[in-house]
Amino acid sequence: MAAVIQYRCEICGTESSNPIHWFMIQCNAEELKVLKWNTEAASAYGARHYCGEAHAGVYISRWLEASCSPSIPDFNRASR
Ligand SMILES: [Zn+2]
Repeated sequence: MAAVIQYRCEICGTESSNPIHWFMIQCNAEELKVLKWNTEAASAYGARHYCGEAHAGVYISRWLEASCSPSIPDFNRASR
């Protein structure tokens, strides 16, 4: 019996077990990569999940701002 995985948008907290129109972001201090949804990448370590373009954009803006400030927080461990 397969477990149903619930994915959660990191911005608004919306949950879905079939988020086909969502986006994913993988990033570190040097780069940020936006991925279209695929289940394999979604369950990969470090993937972040967003319910749509708007919320992926919110995260991208935060990442850009953090990258431009002198002291860079550990963004990979940002609030969860
Ligand atoms: Zn959202």
